[in-house]
Amino acid sequence: MTVVVGIVPAGGSGERLGAERPKAFVVLAGKPLLDWSVEALEPICDRVVVAAPRGQRAESRGQRVDGGPSRSASVRNAVLAAPEADVFVVHDAARPLVTEELVRRCIDALEGFDGAIAAARLTDTVKEAGGDGRVRRTLDRSLLWAIQTPQVFRADVLRRALDVDEAALAAATDDASLVESAGGSLRVVESPRDNLKVTTAADLKLAEALLGC
Ligand code: C5P
Repeated sequence: MTVVVGIVPAGGSGERLGAERPKAFVVLAGKPLLDWSVEALEPICDRVVVAAPRGQRAESRGQRVDGGPSRSASVRNAVLAAPEADVFVVHDAARPLVTEELVRRCIDALEGFDGAIAAARLTDTVKEAGGDGRVRRTLDRSLLWAIQTPQVFRADVLRRALDVDEAALAAATDDASLVESAGGSLRVVESPRDNLKVTTAADLKLAEALLGC
């Protein structure tokens, strides 16, 4: 039987949100941001490991490990706590609107790949510009995707990808880029744009509105 372990990186301080507690513990529609993600993973995963800021005492769901100095270091701490896993489902605490349906589609899409990652098609035109603001070129939007979580990986591949120094972990903005650097094969899984990431107070309001609060 395949052992599927959910990982929720929740170790960030969330300075841009301006709340008095770490972002993952800010309350959205009656429960901590973190719990929305854990509840979406629990029915699908054998267990869920949460990487939370060291010393954070507030109640929340999931088994806790200490977060690290970067997002990827937090993921690595959680990965090390689950040696039994065959498959990891990594999902940020900052994306509370994830659905079980999206998590299941990512797991199904893993067949034949090392990783399957949720991604939204871009609706804006995307240009590349230099540091002085001068536009260099317009990219082909039909080939571009805005990458989200959940990101699902074969466990051995993710373990190898995370076996790099702290600087490489700190430079990675998602786990898939580390898997890419390690030569792993990835596919995108089309996801709705409302699987949004809560970064600012405005995002929190938008998440509440989408939940119908
Ligand atoms: O900072 P950002 O919004 O990109 O963080 C994405 C996710 O990574 C959040 O859920 C955050 O709590 C988590 N994180 C972490 N450990 C860190 C920094 C961020 O688990 N050191």
